[in-house]
Amino acid sequence: MGGKLKAVGEIGPGNADATGSRILVFVRLRPMSRKEKEAGSKSCVKILNKKDVDLTDLASENDYLRLKRGRGHHHFCFDASFPDSTTQAEVYSTSTADLVEGVLQGRNGTVFCYGATGAGKTYTMLGTMENPGVMVLAIKDLFSKVRQRSYDGSHSIQLSYLEVYNETVRDLLSPGRPLLLREDKQGIVAAGLTQYRAYSTDEVMKLLQQGNQNRTTEPTRMNETSSRSHAILQVVVEYRYLDGANIVARVGKLSLIDLAGSERALATDQRTQRSLEGANINRSLLALSSCINALVEGKRHIPYRNSKLTQLLKDSLGGACNTVMIANISPSNLSFGETQNTLHWADRAKEIKTKAMTAGNEESYKAPDADADQSKLVLELQKE
Ligand code: ADP
Ligand code: MG
Repeated sequence: MGGKLKAVGEIGPGNADATGSRILVFVRLRPMSRKEKEAGSKSCVKILNKKDVDLTDLASENDYLRLKRGRGHHHFCFDASFPDSTTQAEVYSTSTADLVEGVLQGRNGTVFCYGATGAGKTYTMLGTMENPGVMVLAIKDLFSKVRQRSYDGSHSIQLSYLEVYNETVRDLLSPGRPLLLREDKQGIVAAGLTQYRAYSTDEVMKLLQQGNQNRTTEPTRMNETSSRSHAILQVVVEYRYLDGANIVARVGKLSLIDLAGSERALATDQRTQRSLEGANINRSLLALSSCINALVEGKRHIPYRNSKLTQLLKDSLGGACNTVMIANISPSNLSFGETQNTLHWADRAKEIKTKAMTAGNEESYKAPDADADQSKLVLELQKE
């Protein structure tokens, strides 16, 4: 090319949509497991249509007064509610495909799966070889779209996969010493984290499965991933495409997060929350609930600094980022309390606006300067 690249400023949907959008919240009901059936479980969740969910406390079905006062029934409405027959591809296309399109336009996106242990978070995010989940389908989509659009065939897709366990950050692709978090122009980053350059989707599934095996296990159940481990996959995409006579350079980041089990840690009762805090059950999840509360209530101070997870999610929750939450639930009445808790937080998360916070808030999202924010940098090909 005989042209010269010149920065002409910030344009594009990255800016236009960054303000005023809110977290999109989806609920996914998983099928009843064999274990639950054997334990004589009944289903207490009904997906009424594409959005509405009914939860019934079967324990109070005999309690005429409780039901009469409506205490045993709970109704929720989400951006979409997935019944247990929903395929991985359907979950991906409804919840995440738009975010991936946004990432290709240079707009950061985050998806996090939230729910009790056994509710289907890892199945939704990672999935299996036969039924790959959101992480793999997103990367597959990125590969195919970037290849189609890249103007000179040069592009890069870099992966990093990390874990937050017990307030320690570890690299899942290259396990070793704990990593320190530091703030740079891009936001909060884990220093020394491996950036793995991916060349095909086939290798990605293997890589992620290996990474998942590196997640911390409970000493008592060595084969099972700890229910207190949060796994974060970050995918950075860089490519250039031709827009008329202009070469547009795009950098976008997609974060896909398989959170720790939310049981007990996110009690809706304030008093219980405090006692759990004392017991240091899961500081990161408690901090996440505090941040959600503070964001929903429009507080000036958002306590991102209270945990490693919330520091890493700062841009996703309060910044200019498109964010999706998938709440995973079991149908079993034996998990009623956990399901109620999950749906309560999912309902609350709907109110979070993902936009720049008011000036003067020291914890607020800082708009990156033009140099740092390459995602919004448009390079213009100057004719000589
Ligand atoms: P979590 O990560 O929330 O602890 P998992 O994703 O490991 O839960 O799910 C628990 C079990 O249920 C696993 O055996 C998983 O394969 C199965 N499972 C979860 N969701 C689904 C689903 N939508 N369809 C089929 N099986 C599922
Ligand atoms: Mg899991």
